[in-house]
Amino acid sequence: MSEILPYVSEPPAVSPWDPRAPHVARTVANLIGRARPDLRPEHVGSTAVPDLPGKGVVDLAIPAPPDDILAIAEALLGLGFRRQGGKSPWPSTRPMFVGAIDYEGDRFRIHAHVIPSTSDELHELRTFRDALRRDATLRDRYVAAKRRIVDDGEQSGQMYAVRKSDFVADALLAIGARPRPADAGPPIQPGATIGILGGGQLGRMLGIAARQLGYGVAILDPDPFCPARAIADHQVEAAYDSVKGARELAAGCAVVTYELEHVSAEAVEAIVSRVPVRPGLAALRATQDRLAERLFVREQGELTADWRAVRGLDELSAAADELGYPLRLKAPIGGYDGRSQARIAGPDDLGPALAAVERQEGRGRPLLLERELAFDAEVSVVCARDVEGRTLAFPVSRNVHDRGILVESVAPAPIDPLHAATARDIAERLARALDVVGVMTVELFLVGDRDLAVNELAPRVHNSGHWTIEGAATSQFLQHIRAICGLPLGSVEPRGGAAMINLLGSGSKRAARLTGLPEALADPSVAVHVYGKRAVFDRRKMGHVTAVAADGDTDAALARARDAAAHLGWAD
Ligand code: ADP
Ligand code: MG
Repeated sequence: MSEILPYVSEPPAVSPWDPRAPHVARTVANLIGRARPDLRPEHVGSTAVPDLPGKGVVDLAIPAPPDDILAIAEALLGLGFRRQGGKSPWPSTRPMFVGAIDYEGDRFRIHAHVIPSTSDELHELRTFRDALRRDATLRDRYVAAKRRIVDDGEQSGQMYAVRKSDFVADALLAIGARPRPADAGPPIQPGATIGILGGGQLGRMLGIAARQLGYGVAILDPDPFCPARAIADHQVEAAYDSVKGARELAAGCAVVTYELEHVSAEAVEAIVSRVPVRPGLAALRATQDRLAERLFVREQGELTADWRAVRGLDELSAAADELGYPLRLKAPIGGYDGRSQARIAGPDDLGPALAAVERQEGRGRPLLLERELAFDAEVSVVCARDVEGRTLAFPVSRNVHDRGILVESVAPAPIDPLHAATARDIAERLARALDVVGVMTVELFLVGDRDLAVNELAPRVHNSGHWTIEGAATSQFLQHIRAICGLPLGSVEPRGGAAMINLLGSGSKRAARLTGLPEALADPSVAVHVYGKRAVFDRRKMGHVTAVAADGDTDAALARARDAAAHLGWAD
């Protein structure tokens, strides 16, 4: 008979603290210690705090190096623990196991959280527990927050945990368990100038938001006809990797931000000592190289498609054999809109895929090889973090790509609320871990009914967040400006169900002349954005169309946005 008994879910209830809980925790920790003497399970959560009422589930945190988590999972299964059933906010990379034991005639439920020791999570759990032990007022407020959720009729233990998390987040900041951004300064006053590295459509929409608050805008872009030129007070015409150009931009600015992650870290390094650069250098370094990004995401315990770093055909075929097909081969640096990557359906594609990616990336550099996931949906989360360290994620958007390029998004995504809450939580945790100030975006795959795998991070506003201009109380652009200027974040409340369609170019390269605008705008609920690019060519992002359905019906919004977009085109 296994020592750990089956777990039975119960609707959340708030009951008095049971003084036997610490003994139960020790008993279970000893059991785990016998199977794996190197592990140090720690009693955390409400049952570890004397006199704190709660659900009564005994939580154990088991810190583990990311590479050891699979083996630890096996050991826990061997003891009789089970993976949590159904949908779960905990991926196999930081799994939660459930079980129970009988103690003095009563059955105690156990949650065993395997936590990557490379993340801050254990520190947070410990600090929160210790603060609750010390501080009766915090305990009372916490219990009141729990009671409100239960009185509200919440039936799911997982959603109960999600709904507690806002209280916990505020408390963690207040007690100093979550570090403030290293680069925090006083608010930047309107009249000051914001510098933007990159002058594309994202820079243009950021600039419009900056203007709303009365800031000046300076941009760096090599193209004198770039989309952001029209809204900038000043343009430095220089390449994205120009150190000299970055210095010139920074000279007149109170803060510098970037609208693409492919600006050179060297250029940013050259100015960080003179002016705050936000979201920040750490975020830039971790996200401009897909391999560095994967290592970071693994350290944080998030799931990704299985991947390998490969160099040359021999390594590629060996790794392909290990991972299985289909695969994606990606250049670590510089890819966007599906460029610099190739699909590998079977062994015959290995050579051509390598040649194609190396043609863009150059030879000899390691490339990212990963499994292609048969996902149910692609989703993304735009998340902001302010100079106080508060994080706030926008509602999740559900995205459709065509050959790697975003075609349409709807938000709030019509997905399970637990998946949506988990995706937002992942984004907020990653933004903290990268010490972001400003907005960061996480792209994820929803695989089956269970797993959320991180695909890509972008330390910036994102195409899949354009719906927020009309569809949320604060746009992603304004949110970013607020955050990087040291101002409080705005509400991310949706204004209904939003749909955004990208307006892509078609045909050969020629002067851009939009057709069909009056027809598209015949539906008064539709908004059209045109980026002002002088030339159009096939699949170039030229603008976008948004529709919002006040009643929340994203299907209706999508139908209206599609109808409007169908009128738009480019004259020959
Ligand atoms: P980009 O920087 O061009 O956005 P991504 O890695 O996000 O590069 O890939 C673009 C798109 O290609 C994704 O949004 C997704 O639709 C598809 N894709 C990329 N990697 C995978 C994968 N491992 N499995 C399934 N689809 C993928
Ligand atoms: Mg992407």
